Amino acid sequence: MTAASPHPRCAPLLSALPLLFALLSFLIASRSTSVPAPTLHQQLEDLSTQVVHNLHHLATISESPHHLNRPFLSNSSKQAHALLHRLFTQAALSATADAAGNVIATLTCATTPSSTTRPLILLGSHHDTVVDAGRFDGTLGIFTALAVAQSFRSSICTLPFDISIIAFDDEEGNNPFSVTNFGARAFVAHDLSHITALPTFQQAHHALHGPSDVPSAVRHAAISKHLKNRLLAYVELHIEQGPVLEAAHRPVGVVDAIAGQTRIMIRVDGQAKHAGTTPMNQRRDALTAAAQLVLHVEDVARHFHAERLVATVGKLDVYPAATNVVPGSVSFSVDVRAPSDRVRNRAVQLIRHASQRVALARSVQVDLQIVHQVDAVRMSDWLVDGFKHVLGDDAVVLTSGAGHDAQFMKEITDVGMLFVRCKDGISHSPLEAVSDQDVFQGVLALRKVIERIAEKAVA
Ligand SMILES: [Zn+2]
Repeated sequence: MTAASPHPRCAPLLSALPLLFALLSFLIASRSTSVPAPTLHQQLEDLSTQVVHNLHHLATISESPHHLNRPFLSNSSKQAHALLHRLFTQAALSATADAAGNVIATLTCATTPSSTTRPLILLGSHHDTVVDAGRFDGTLGIFTALAVAQSFRSSICTLPFDISIIAFDDEEGNNPFSVTNFGARAFVAHDLSHITALPTFQQAHHALHGPSDVPSAVRHAAISKHLKNRLLAYVELHIEQGPVLEAAHRPVGVVDAIAGQTRIMIRVDGQAKHAGTTPMNQRRDALTAAAQLVLHVEDVARHFHAERLVATVGKLDVYPAATNVVPGSVSFSVDVRAPSDRVRNRAVQLIRHASQRVALARSVQVDLQIVHQVDAVRMSDWLVDGFKHVLGDDAVVLTSGAGHDAQFMKEITDVGMLFVRCKDGISHSPLEAVSDQDVFQGVLALRKVIERIAEKAVA
């Protein structure tokens, strides 16, 4: 039997079959061997997922199995150093730790000109926590910085500067040595000898880091003159720890200042008398006078609302605090914060005037003492402008009412801060929360900020 001949109209198609088959095989083979490179957006999404994973991982390191607590000079802080060091080196950054508890990693972006003279951008935040903390405070700034550094690494870094990441220790002051920001203070070369000379400090340091001349080792944590000369800026991303971004429906905002603060103690002295026998017009009630003053404090703060001043009476002690005695004396605290030192000082002056008026009107003595005062720290204008450019003309600009490592870094370089929205404005609590989408928005904003700084550096 002979094979049947193909239909004349099918002949050209059949003759092309081997070619079609070869083409199909090539397409299948090439598809299986070369996956298209991910876009930058995809890379940043993947890196954001890694940020979330890292945040959860670091939050498992705690002094307590029941809540997150990672104090300065603790076993958990040492474990955190080790984890950070490992994550930095896995990302191909060169990492070191210093005797003040800071972990520093560097991405060298090019070999020419010499990396020892290239400018440097420092990104970071803190890795210690308060007692019963959330997992985002400080650590979000460290891991978003790592993600952004990795994003430049993976796209073959052509930045005109190197990027270093610093994870500061002891921002929160969760320690028995009456100090906050030990890591940042050591880095900017504050004299900490009154703390490092304490036997209790040295014992704790030796227990974790082995025997050493602790004061000398901490002094060596200061940034070298050479590195300081290379510094272009310090940029810190941090959770907002307040409700402003959430109310404005924005994931990221620009910080223009860390508020200055005045802490006042006011003592009101009236006269303690029998609550049943003293007519109302013959009383010198210290508590009603204090109550009037507390409302004056609120009025003053509301008056300066547009200048973002806030004032709080958070502690009030009544003496003798008995139900059947007209209060004889009252002491209370007033905490005043504002981005403008001029506005804050004016508010304190108005509170002082109100004290004098109340004293006169109620025949009591009012003593007002300023017990603590710190000036505001303004973020560097060129960075604030750059961040606003990145986030758009209608970017939300905030004042940080809380202190940050950035305020110490301002002593040695230009500083800028980004805030990321947190749920219900809650922080310093296990309820602290940042959505995965907002983590991504933080990474994206920080990446764009670095690109913007690079444009400015080249221009
Ligand atoms: Zn913090």
